[in-house]
Amino acid sequence: MSEAVVVIGAGQAAAQLAASLRQGGFGAPIVVIGDEPYPPYQRPPLSKKFLIERPAPDSLYLRAPGFWDEQKVTLMLGTPVAAVDAAARRVMLADRRAIDFGILAFATGTRARALPLPGADLPGVFSVRKIDDIRQLRPALDDARRAVIVGAGYIGLEVAAGMRAEGREVTLLEAEDRVMKRVTGRAISDFFDAFHRARGVDLRLGARLAAITGEARATGVRLADGAEIAADLVLVATGAKVNDEIAAAAGIACEDGILVDESAATNVAGVYAIGDCARFPSRRYGRHIRLECVQNAIDQAKAAAAAMLGKGERYDPVPWFWSDQYDLKLQIAGLMDGHDQADTIGDPASARFSVEYRKAGRLIAVDAVNDGRAYMTARRRIAEETA
Ligand SMILES: Cc1cc2nc3c(=O)[nH]c(=O)nc-3n(C[C@H](O)[C@H](O)[C@H](O)COP(=O)(O)OP(=O)(O)OC[C@H]3O[C@@H](n4cnc5c(N)ncnc54)[C@H](O)[C@@H]3O)c2cc1C
Repeated sequence: MSEAVVVIGAGQAAAQLAASLRQGGFGAPIVVIGDEPYPPYQRPPLSKKFLIERPAPDSLYLRAPGFWDEQKVTLMLGTPVAAVDAAARRVMLADRRAIDFGILAFATGTRARALPLPGADLPGVFSVRKIDDIRQLRPALDDARRAVIVGAGYIGLEVAAGMRAEGREVTLLEAEDRVMKRVTGRAISDFFDAFHRARGVDLRLGARLAAITGEARATGVRLADGAEIAADLVLVATGAKVNDEIAAAAGIACEDGILVDESAATNVAGVYAIGDCARFPSRRYGRHIRLECVQNAIDQAKAAAAAMLGKGERYDPVPWFWSDQYDLKLQIAGLMDGHDQADTIGDPASARFSVEYRKAGRLIAVDAVNDGRAYMTARRRIAEETA
């Protein structure tokens, strides 16, 4: 029987798992299989500096060239996994090769959510999830005067800020009644809304997209109320869909994500899931959660490595996250949903303030704008008060 650890996906979580296993003295083969042609890289700059400053892709790589060879980690890149046979302990590749595993980890992340609307497949419609997305978007952006961005989550807002810095006209469409509704409270949404409008973003809330218009390529969008907006390109930033289909087909329990326990183990012995694709129990927040952030990819991978090395530890983090827009740094700690109290500390007009969220008197989350100290202090307090 194979002793190898095989990891599906070669992103942030996979890289950390492989590194932590070697650091912990794991001596058997480690094989990391990724469908993208690049070694593990960081995604956050894709919607920020990487898009605007155009550095070479290798500036995003998580490890120096040579690291993977030195660590005896086999990277199989540009290699999609097609299926897993959990009983035979075998991974099937799209090119029909098979790889046996002793331990398997899913680190398959998420993909851009498809837009089920006419015109969504036209040339000139882009998303921002991968290096190759930016490689397609960047030249189109150079030729564009007007862009429509669909979705005012953090990625849509970050790209809007970058496009405005380049002097392009930006219409930002959001179906909800405020920006970043899924991740922040109203005071923060209102602040970012005003900040973007003041910098020339044509932000339209409650905007329902009906179609992307154009014949040979996208030339704009049509809203459900019949309004037409012309654009040289359309960027879709409407969120992510979890890559859990292969796990589900292999009989692993899934529920909008691969279900794992507090050491990242699935219901099938010796099979783990980490990072954006995993849904885990949080005692701290009293429910199962799936996070899409670097902190979780790294820390859950470390917990999985510890479990594989027989040094179990309970993973129950205070999640944290950041977003850069213009010269603003938004830092988020904890999860604010379910709060019954929100207090603004400092003056939003100074662009340096924070919002604390409480539930039944306990601090459960904080959002800080350009206030690293408030964020760090609150993170510690959240950890204590939600323990
Ligand atoms: C534009 C953008 C900006 C972001 N900004 C921030 C930020 O500011 N702060 C923050 O904390 N987080 C941010 N994130 C989120 C963060 O990047 C993710 O949480 C993190 O990358 C998750 O790591 P992961 O390893 O779980 O998944 P990923 O890094 O997404 O890696 C998963 C990999 O698995 C591959 N894969 C999937 N299926 C298969 C298959 N069948 N066979 C082979 N390979 C497969 C995928 O193609 C991908 O390469 C951002 C993400 C994006 C896209």
